[in-house]
Amino acid sequence: MIKLNDLYFKPFISEKEIDSAVSKMVTEIANDLQDEVPVFVGILNGSFMFVSDFVKKYPKPCEVTFIKLASYEGIKSTEDIQRLIGLTQDLTGRKVVILEDIIDSGNTLEEVHRIFKNENVDELKIATLFYKPEAYKKDYKLHYVGLEIPNKFIVGYGLDYNGLGRDLPEIYQLKTTQHMTNLVLFGPPGAGKGTQAEFLKDKYNLVHISTGDVFRFNIKNETALGMLAKSYMDKGELVPDQVTIDMLNAEVEKNADANGFIFDGFPRTNAQAQALDQLMDGKDSQINAMIALEVDDEVLVKRLLERGKTSGRKDDADETIIRNRITEYYKKTAILKDYYTAQNKYFGVDGVGSISEITERLNAVIDKL
Ligand code: AMP
Repeated sequence: MIKLNDLYFKPFISEKEIDSAVSKMVTEIANDLQDEVPVFVGILNGSFMFVSDFVKKYPKPCEVTFIKLASYEGIKSTEDIQRLIGLTQDLTGRKVVILEDIIDSGNTLEEVHRIFKNENVDELKIATLFYKPEAYKKDYKLHYVGLEIPNKFIVGYGLDYNGLGRDLPEIYQLKTTQHMTNLVLFGPPGAGKGTQAEFLKDKYNLVHISTGDVFRFNIKNETALGMLAKSYMDKGELVPDQVTIDMLNAEVEKNADANGFIFDGFPRTNAQAQALDQLMDGKDSQINAMIALEVDDEVLVKRLLERGKTSGRKDDADETIIRNRITEYYKKTAILKDYYTAQNKYFGVDGVGSISEITERLNAVIDKL
């Protein structure tokens, strides 16, 4: 991560990716122009690095010139674009290729077309290294595009944020700072995760996602996901990773504005833990802590059988299935303690006692984060 002026940016497009996009454009343009000697016109300031790399790779004779227009002020593409400077050469009858670093709203491009209308060029083609399709509002044809990118503010490789960042050899993307608190509530079945999550979500204003609850909701509504999950859940086995991960991602996306999440029953495998890290990374956030409720197996079996009398859950009613769920936990899930311990994020809490005693123990851990 880097800081430019007051904002943070994270790596987005590497030097290698830029290099292959430039090479691709060179090949396409050289093939189209054959033996014509084109005039490449770079739009300053942003395109200086792109034009330099482009013409170094261009395999045939060419002319290079620059014109200057200003478009970005701060991080918003402005409506009024300054006047052109620098077009002193007669381009009558020439093949001209505009080399732009980035096209987003298309305002600069409109100005370029306006200017070249009077130049009597033989052909005017537009080449842009980066293109933001979501932001583009004009109809002008873009003949060559290096890379399509989402509508995010970027710096580097000629592009700046208030003067800084043009010198960077790779592209960085604005980091949207989010101050989320994300907790993994951990422990074997029957440890009391669901009960405690109800208290914690209110106290810390977090969204509680219980993968078990989402599966049960889907089973009740007889969705395809529910039918698939049911066959595993009824035996006390884990639902396959990809199904669970996709479902979890969708639940998180439904709550885009959350202050943070309590993940209850997820992750349960290494693959799920990695997927969760990736998901958080995509939100410029992270898991702050795994808080584990530690409870003896025999206490768990007793609690679950007791719960089974009223919960209506098939997997709580039968001691064999309960013991299988606990075995699954030790076989596949308990190893996640190491995953989070390695990141100094594991906090064990005694899960035996009254509900309020345990809530207080959890609060004490969270308040210290
Ligand atoms: P729970 O309500 O957390 O005890 O989950 C009940 C059942 O749902 C589990 O025994 C699994 O079959 C399934 N399940 C819940 N969460 C997951 C997960 N993260 N990965 C795989 N299966 C899960």
